Amino acid sequence: MWEGAFISPVMQKYLIANYHTHTMRCHHASGDEREYIERAIRSGIRTLGFSDHAPQLFDGGYVSGFRMLPEQTEEYVSTLCALREEYRSDIQILIGYEMEYYPRYFEQSLAAICRYPVDYLIVGQHFLENENPLVRARGGGSDEYSGGMHAEQWKLDAYVDRMLGAIGSGVYSCLAHPDLFRWAGDPALYHEGMLRMCRAARDARIPLELNLLGIIDNRWYPNEAFWRIAGEAGCEAIIGCDAHTPDALYLPQAVEQARDIAQRCGVVLRDTLALVPPIPLHSAEQTP
Ligand SMILES: [Zn+2]
Ligand SMILES: [Zn+2]
Repeated sequence: MWEGAFISPVMQKYLIANYHTHTMRCHHASGDEREYIERAIRSGIRTLGFSDHAPQLFDGGYVSGFRMLPEQTEEYVSTLCALREEYRSDIQILIGYEMEYYPRYFEQSLAAICRYPVDYLIVGQHFLENENPLVRARGGGSDEYSGGMHAEQWKLDAYVDRMLGAIGSGVYSCLAHPDLFRWAGDPALYHEGMLRMCRAARDARIPLELNLLGIIDNRWYPNEAFWRIAGEAGCEAIIGCDAHTPDALYLPQAVEQARDIAQRCGVVLRDTLALVPPIPLHSAEQTP
């Protein structure tokens, strides 16, 4: 076919950067940091961002089973700082967190993280309003999982509003699996809500993540209905491994599938993130 002459003969490379990597501190990832780093180097990744589930300063004595504790922050950062130094000629190591935007805890949790070196944050909004059942019991908001099957408008609004809050905070560099929210209600409402979120991300120049864990785990995301809306809004995207094992840093087939989704939906893919260094809220006013 004559069209073949226009197809670039250059093979598309594997990822050159991944900003979505976990560690054992979240209790549902395996492998130590060194194994992740060496797997990334072998995969040709030149920038490896660690973004473990951020500590949150919950109240009421609630302790999460799927994130590091606040007192582990120092050790997380010092481990990565030492490895960054050791591997500096082979790979760039970044220190980040995947952190929900929970208005109740956001300001304090962000301030606590910012006491140590931090390069970037990504927002993965796993819960609609909160994850602390003790707070829900006191009427302080839903602790429902965003990926449950939802059909009520207020839940859609809750998810979108949290993401808008995250975007508006100015401290996030990427929206992780923005299509984690699962909807069984009126498609027109979904379109309206997600378009609102996507336009805000586009205006703030924050890319959306096409999540490889969703692909290899056969989850409901990446959701093409969502990515068509992202394309309509003119969003940019980045592929993220969401690695919970070192081997999840090399998934060439899943990368191919993610690139196909982006292409079909008219979403422009970036190779790297423009990182926003997080700073505590109000720190500008506190500076003399
Ligand atoms: Zn996780
Ligand atoms: Zn993650």
